[in-house]
Amino acid sequence: MFNVTTGLAIWCSEALTLALVAFIAWRHNVRDKTYFYWGLGFMLSGIGFGMVALRAYIPSYLSIETGNTIALFGQSAWVAGYLALDRRKIEWWVLLPPAVWLAGVFLPWVHDDYPNRVALYNLASATGATALTMAVSSPGLNRESVRAKLAVMFILQSCISFVAAGAIAVLSPDDMTAANIAGIAAMGTALMLTLACALTVRLIMGRSEQKLRLLSLTDTLTGVLNRRGLFSQFTRIQTKAFDENRQVAVLLFDLDNFKRINDRFGHQGGDTVLTVFARMAQQFTPAGAFGRMGGEEFAAFTSVSDQTEAEALAETIRTEFCRVPVSTGDAIIPATVSIGVALASPIEANMDKLVSAADRALYAAKAAGRNCTVTFGEAEAAAPPPPEEKPDHTTGELVPTLDDQIHALRRVGSLGR
Ligand code: GH3
Ligand code: MG
Ligand code: MG
Repeated sequence: MFNVTTGLAIWCSEALTLALVAFIAWRHNVRDKTYFYWGLGFMLSGIGFGMVALRAYIPSYLSIETGNTIALFGQSAWVAGYLALDRRKIEWWVLLPPAVWLAGVFLPWVHDDYPNRVALYNLASATGATALTMAVSSPGLNRESVRAKLAVMFILQSCISFVAAGAIAVLSPDDMTAANIAGIAAMGTALMLTLACALTVRLIMGRSEQKLRLLSLTDTLTGVLNRRGLFSQFTRIQTKAFDENRQVAVLLFDLDNFKRINDRFGHQGGDTVLTVFARMAQQFTPAGAFGRMGGEEFAAFTSVSDQTEAEALAETIRTEFCRVPVSTGDAIIPATVSIGVALASPIEANMDKLVSAADRALYAAKAAGRNCTVTFGEAEAAAPPPPEEKPDHTTGELVPTLDDQIHALRRVGSLGR
């Protein structure tokens, strides 16, 4: 009914092409072995089934024993690829498919009987599909829906192979019927594998999208959230404060005399101070969100029970930072931080207004001599910011407006006449 040799030859060329694609993908990042294992898997599967297809032309120990063993090692490599994708250790059970095959193929009643060999091969292949299910199932099956679909594909694939093996064991069919069962199982497996490939591509694309998103929200120097990432957390903190009947606090940090640190210890020394501060301050705000606003300014959004708790948090970070000097290996850099804190009830909390109020508090902390905390409670934070100072035309440097300049030019022109 099926021409198994033609099917095997088609799979062989497809698998070798996919192996090439996977190896090319692996070259982009050789440290990540995922594509290497998948490439290896396709290559071994292609070579193995190629040898099985050449049964009429090569000795049977090469075609049957060796060819099937190589193909089943291919399944092991696929399993290893899924484990590498999750940075998991390669476990012993990845070798189960060739192990099952090698354990049975040399028994005379298997070796010399085609239906029994088909049954054994399907049993080994079902073991491989089960191992694939295990590799994609944990961890994070519920975090990535596509993984659950992949697991279902592999379960179906394992069912197909188990049923084929079981049918032959129970029915003891003749060679022709066994070949047909093998063909149907192979077609089912090939279909599942194609769908699994498509789902795997989706899984990888989803992951790189997530990675890029995370990268776009992270500050490259310090590893904490950047301004965008931090601002995206405000609603979460506000909702949390509302649910817990607490207040929203914004803490704004500005490292003191940072220009001087750069001048004295170099830009790299300054970078080390930024990184050390960011890591330390983040540790003290685990329930909130901490990020870099830009330059030497950082901010934290968190929920607090009252003003005293917000002040205590700010003071803990401030005192810890000036207590432990930053070491660069060559030098010890003394550094301090000024902090502005603003609070609001979660219903009234508006991010822009709170950040602006914290900025005014920070300005007051700088004016008070630096290395200190100034807190604006709900009333002060809600007060409108003082109006921008208008340029004083009566004192200081005279800055002529455009009108003044046109007027002056006209007068110069009229004098010339
Ligand atoms: P103040 O106490 O009033 O805050 O004084 P300051 O010197 O800290 O403030 P100022 O705003 O005058 O200087 C900030 C400096 O931070 C200037 C800029 O060169 C430096 N800076 C900004 N971003 C970085 C960075 O990524 N790395 C390093 N090393 N320095 C930075
Ligand atoms: Mg600054
Ligand atoms: Mg500063």
